[in-house]
Amino acid sequence: MPELPEVETIRRQLEPAITGRVIEAVRVIDERWTRPVAPVEVERALAGHRIEAVERRGKYLLLRLEGDRTLAMHLRMTGNLLLQEPGSDPPHLRASFELDDGSRLLFTDARRFGQAVVLDGDGVDEYFAARLGVEPLSEALTGAELCRLASGRRAPLKSFLLNQTGVAGIGNIYADEALHRAALHPLSPAGSMKPEDCERLRDGIVATLEAGLRTGGASVDDYRDARGERGAMQDEFLVHTREGEPCPRCGSEIRRVVVAGRSTYFCPSCQRRLRRRPRRRARKRSPA
Ligand SMILES: [Zn+2]
Repeated sequence: MPELPEVETIRRQLEPAITGRVIEAVRVIDERWTRPVAPVEVERALAGHRIEAVERRGKYLLLRLEGDRTLAMHLRMTGNLLLQEPGSDPPHLRASFELDDGSRLLFTDARRFGQAVVLDGDGVDEYFAARLGVEPLSEALTGAELCRLASGRRAPLKSFLLNQTGVAGIGNIYADEALHRAALHPLSPAGSMKPEDCERLRDGIVATLEAGLRTGGASVDDYRDARGERGAMQDEFLVHTREGEPCPRCGSEIRRVVVAGRSTYFCPSCQRRLRRRPRRRARKRSPA
């Protein structure tokens, strides 16, 4: 599933190519892509508008259009955004944009979980305020902020990182890799982190996402960039999908467990399992 580095890779490719272009026509082929809004309404809302900027929030890609209008797209599991010259349609095409320089922006999606929504004015901020937390590659992500977000949370660290309303943009791959870099066990309760653990986790998140950007993202399954090419992050995984292989830090065997329904890979030797903070025990209810 595309995460922050994959979406940001696409954004960086699209930005110089489509900024300033006018969307001449939009064709929504799959009504699920715009649900609950009818495809024809979305087609009309976008056609004729100039693209002023290409931005990203969490795992969402945003086309900022003239007239304070925004198209927010989420790739979900198997969505891809491809920039192509005119030609035949690729498989699993869900929507297409014809631009005024003759190029086409195509949204393909085999599993059909990808989504698009048109937002006007302040609607953008409201939409994301309810869905996304801090951007991990911004100055807003600090060790102290991570500790504040995790405070009192009993959820495992893996689930804490997958929750988009805490830190935005991290999914299954980058959560495993960040926790290994931070030497933290994925099943440790999030609220058990001490300040030094939060600092290491912050550094682990940033280093992991930067590795993803440097390698053009991870192409474990369907992900392709805007040019249709694979990323190479999967060749640099430290633990993700490496069950049974030696840990690159200590040599112990990498294990796999399921957390929140997701395969989770970690080293049981050097990723330390944290205990709950002592104050939790004081709150324990006495038996009735
Ligand atoms: Zn290890």
